[in-house]
Amino acid sequence: MTTKAMKPLKNPNAQVRVDLKDAETIKCNSCNNYLFITSFILKRLSALVSPNGQEALIPVQVYSCGNCGEVAEGFLEGSGLEEKVKENSLSRLDL
Ligand SMILES: [Zn+2]
Repeated sequence: MTTKAMKPLKNPNAQVRVDLKDAETIKCNSCNNYLFITSFILKRLSALVSPNGQEALIPVQVYSCGNCGEVAEGFLEGSGLEEKVKENSLSRLDL
């Protein structure tokens, strides 16, 4: 396989124009609202596993529905909450 270098773009500064009509509007799964607000999930890293040996607070930014508060699909990935939120069971977070 040859790995040819990609041709340089004629104008690297030109912004890619995107027609938002072609873009999907993400709506809330629960109430169909399409306005979201930024929220943060706060993860507390215990001193035992923290790289610097000190307790750390790690904010994970997500978008939550401005109406019902449901977090938009896909934004919980990597937060460690994916399954727990879907289960929607008792508030038993073993953090
Ligand atoms: Zn909602």
